[in-house]
Amino acid sequence: MDVWKEMKRLQVEQVVFCQEERSGLQAVIAIHSTKMGPALGGCRMWVYDSENDAVADAVRLARGMTYKAAFFGLPYGGGKAVIVGNPSTDKSEAKFRALGRFIDRLQGRYLSGVDLGTTVRDMDWIRLETAHVTDTTGTLMATGDFTAEMTAYGVFLGMKASADYLLGSGDLSGRTVAVQGLGKVGFLLCGLLRDAGASLIVTDIDQLLVDRAVKSCHARAVATDAIYGESCDIFAPCALGGILNDDTIPKLRCAIVAGSANNQLLEEARHGEELEQRGILYAPDFVINAGGLIITAGELQGQSVQELKRGVERIYGMLLAVYRRARAETVPTGQAAKLMAEEKLAAP
Ligand code: NAD
Repeated sequence: MDVWKEMKRLQVEQVVFCQEERSGLQAVIAIHSTKMGPALGGCRMWVYDSENDAVADAVRLARGMTYKAAFFGLPYGGGKAVIVGNPSTDKSEAKFRALGRFIDRLQGRYLSGVDLGTTVRDMDWIRLETAHVTDTTGTLMATGDFTAEMTAYGVFLGMKASADYLLGSGDLSGRTVAVQGLGKVGFLLCGLLRDAGASLIVTDIDQLLVDRAVKSCHARAVATDAIYGESCDIFAPCALGGILNDDTIPKLRCAIVAGSANNQLLEEARHGEELEQRGILYAPDFVINAGGLIITAGELQGQSVQELKRGVERIYGMLLAVYRRARAETVPTGQAAKLMAEEKLAAP
């Protein structure tokens, strides 16, 4: 990957490469945009196949954060930090403090938080060096799993909006939902769907998580590669990105795709178009999974828990607006959502 070219293609403002010999820190901070406010986005720790993959992941995720914040009119831009390393074996206080010093030098242009592979304790370490970090001890993130809870709640409401739009009713009782990934968000989502009277088909690579969902949600378990071909009303990707691709789209037997995973379409334009051609309604990921960002932004603005919940409830109406726009302009739903975010970004 040519970094300059990729920055230009994705309109990325700044990429900061961070290296510190003593702690062994190797990290990338990508600031996609600060037009609407400081670039907000978590810090991911992951083993990448190459340095290029780490940079590509950081810039793509940062851009997703810009769209998500702009779409919901939040006063933040998009950013992401990526630490290269194994989150189970390579963590140290020195590493996160070193990253904290790099973040501090950005003087508030980037605001970090928890993401894949990082925890509240890691953010506390960053906090020892800079004020520009959230999800530390004392925040909502540190009290139970409020972020995952609100993300799951937003996805559940997004499913209702999608069913309302396509099937004529937002009532999910008697509907069949296939959930891929039963981690923090997927499992909480299963509970909401169970309480709403939906039938569940589930899968995960972790058998213990499958057993837990089967037991508590009366779900039917299937093999990981079988989930795509299950006949259902809604398929909910709640595991990894890139799972809507040339292999999986032809197998789908659902009316709607609505889940929490980020970057679900392997190739945004082409695979969005293919879903459209197959008559499958796709809930754009950065709209339906925005619950976590909405509450983080709201908490930074000092909102109460009730206000935060109301913020997440906007997902229902905003998703309907995306679907109407897509129909009016005969474009795929993902493209309609991007247009709506870009209009907010382009506003003077
Ligand atoms: P998690 O790590 O707790 O759960 C992910 C689950 O997916 C794990 O149980 C894992 O075993 C499973 N999985 C991985 N590969 C799989 C495969 N091939 N088939 C089936 N299952 C597989 O993560 P999470 O916090 O629940 O997040 C789920 C997704 O939602 C991620 O893509 C994340 O980026 C996105 N998301 C999460 C939040 C949040 O608040 N946690 C907010 C927005 C978006």
